[in-house]
Amino acid sequence: MIEYNDVSLVYPNGTKALQNINLTINQGEFVVIVGLSGAGKSTLIRSINRLVTPTAGQLLVDNQDILKLNTKQLRQLRTKVGMIFQHHNLVKRSTVIKNVIAGRLGYTNTLKSILNLYSKQDLQLAYDSLKRVNIEEKVYTRSDQLSGGQQQRVSIARVLTQQPNIILADEPVASLDPPTSHQVMTYLKRVNREDNITTIVNLHFIDMAMEYADRIIGMRDGKIVFDGPASMVNEST
Ligand code: ADP
Ligand code: ADP
Repeated sequence: MIEYNDVSLVYPNGTKALQNINLTINQGEFVVIVGLSGAGKSTLIRSINRLVTPTAGQLLVDNQDILKLNTKQLRQLRTKVGMIFQHHNLVKRSTVIKNVIAGRLGYTNTLKSILNLYSKQDLQLAYDSLKRVNIEEKVYTRSDQLSGGQQQRVSIARVLTQQPNIILADEPVASLDPPTSHQVMTYLKRVNREDNITTIVNLHFIDMAMEYADRIIGMRDGKIVFDGPASMVNEST
């Protein structure tokens, strides 16, 4: 469970990116956050794995106040929170399997992955994850030789090897065409359902949000201006 209690975040330049956010997200929910550019969507989700740190309030992730973590606890938090970015962050010259195994070893341990210092179980988990997004035939392909949609599927496989409780996806389909976007959203939704992973996705387009979300959160100027099931969006517009 994720719980924001009066959370605010002011960037060093004075921008109030989050203003008194109160929000509870339950285990297994598929939440889509919508809003114009600059609304605070990215800041909201990046606070969950402390890529950014709120300046006021309390933020609980699985009953732990994540504003009070030491370095070791922060590392543990980031293991159970998988992150997917718009520009997938794969290592370009590295093969698909090495990229995926990096999710298992932790991103700071790329050296281990280069030296093949991983176990048979790690390797099996990486293969299994690739199968779940139907891209196992690309195991030994260099990641920069894949299409945008394939790369995004590999990044889903990579977070799956972390065996996360939570997946955060920051504009995962913003650089993809509509059919490919739907494919990526379908895999995210499937994984959410199969593994009961709490999934929070930032999206630009409301129609896509309505198709996939259990719950839609609308943001404007660092505040939540809408929170409800996708079916409620039609009634209120
Ligand atoms: P969104 O994801 O909805 O586009 P963001 O969370 O990225 O919104 O940004 C919210 C506000 O915070 C915007 O005004 C943005 O310009 C500002 N902002 C984002 N990151 C930083 C930063 N590192 N330093 C200062 N301001 C930032
Ligand atoms: P971007 O430039 O796409 O916004 P960032 O600069 O925020 O990405 O992230 C930098 C790196 O940190 C990425 O390579 C990403 O894989 C890694 N990273 C982000 N979140 C996590 C996490 N929860 N656990 C481990 N590594 C992470």
